[in-house]
Amino acid sequence: MTTESALDTALSQLKQAVSQLGLSENDWQTLSTPRRVLEVAVPLRRDNGNVEMYRGYRVQYSTTRGPSKGGVRFHPDIDMNETIALAMLMTWKCALTNLPYGGAKGGIAVDAGSLSLTENERLTRRYTSEILPIIGPERDIPAPDVGTDERNMAWMMDTYSVNAGFSVPGVVTGKPIVLGGSLGRTSATGDGVAIAAREALRVKGIDPHGAAVAIQGFGKVGYWGAVACEQMGMKVVAVSDVHGGVTGFQSIDQLWSHFKEHGNINVPGSEKLTNDELLHLKVDVLIPAALADAITEKSAPGIQAKIVVEGANAPTTPEGDAIMKDKGILVVPDILANAGGVIVSYFEWVQDKQNYFWSAEEVKQNLNDILMKSVREVEAMADSKKVTWREAAMMLGVGRVAEAHKLRGLYP
Ligand code: GLU
Repeated sequence: MTTESALDTALSQLKQAVSQLGLSENDWQTLSTPRRVLEVAVPLRRDNGNVEMYRGYRVQYSTTRGPSKGGVRFHPDIDMNETIALAMLMTWKCALTNLPYGGAKGGIAVDAGSLSLTENERLTRRYTSEILPIIGPERDIPAPDVGTDERNMAWMMDTYSVNAGFSVPGVVTGKPIVLGGSLGRTSATGDGVAIAAREALRVKGIDPHGAAVAIQGFGKVGYWGAVACEQMGMKVVAVSDVHGGVTGFQSIDQLWSHFKEHGNINVPGSEKLTNDELLHLKVDVLIPAALADAITEKSAPGIQAKIVVEGANAPTTPEGDAIMKDKGILVVPDILANAGGVIVSYFEWVQDKQNYFWSAEEVKQNLNDILMKSVREVEAMADSKKVTWREAAMMLGVGRVAEAHKLRGLYP
């Protein structure tokens, strides 16, 4: 994806929401401007002694409704524009699900797969130290995203804590359990995606039991989404990773064991699919759970799924979205479909603040309650205003941020 288009897409969705809500030009100015953007150089000493420079970013798009919140992405294509776009999406996502947060995003333009464990640790710690003045449990709380995981969060928490002089678990979420992480955080985004798929099937009058699901992406979101969909009785018939897709496998467990051993999902007996073939399968639910720009003017016309559940952030361009609308496909937008991750991040932050930890059942139940409330609100708004679920979700999220702005007023 061109990163310019990520920001264009996000701004065009915002513009639409601002106009549908009847907000003013002043509101548009306030809502379309990121509050704080930081670009840093991140030097890395490679294991062979060479020093390389990487670009790092942290964008605090909004702090109107609370501290900013959002993941840290390690990906070669990340730049300032894309980080701003993703931080904007976090803002609407947190407002839509009523979490007391603004929105943020960060990242380093690096291929995480090219780093040894020790290089990854040095890069993560140096990045943390560069953004240290602007993060903190009351300011901005990073979390995992594409290319980062609980290991990176442990190093971030440690770097921050060593500098503070005491343990500060609440500075990041998505940490290992022993460091103050929450039960259920690892699978949370996937669990939320499955809840969104189940509800969309209900709206379309399709029995989730045996409903066919295709998933693009077999990372944190795709894998846990597949597991959760199957637990709810859906049948995952095709999955892809960066190298391509497969169908005709026995189970997600079989795919996962093969993946862990061989680094690919080409299990014996399965049939290979191209990325386009996967997107165009005749299934009930298609879940894009990889990167941005999966559903475009090129790929959207061939989609045969009745429902698209956006596990990834910004997987659809405005052109792709318009085509799906014409085809009558129910699209559960990213800011609703993948909100499970940040919802359980919120639980983790609350638990860290209270030093009191919840059971896995409590986490699951509370996740379901918060997400279901948002699903119902989006469904009701879409019905009453005769708009798509994306438009409804944006109206709810953007509307709440605009209202908070108005009530706080402008200083000075
Ligand atoms: N990176 C995830 C997202 O895009 C989670 C963010 C968080 O937990 O703060 O929603």
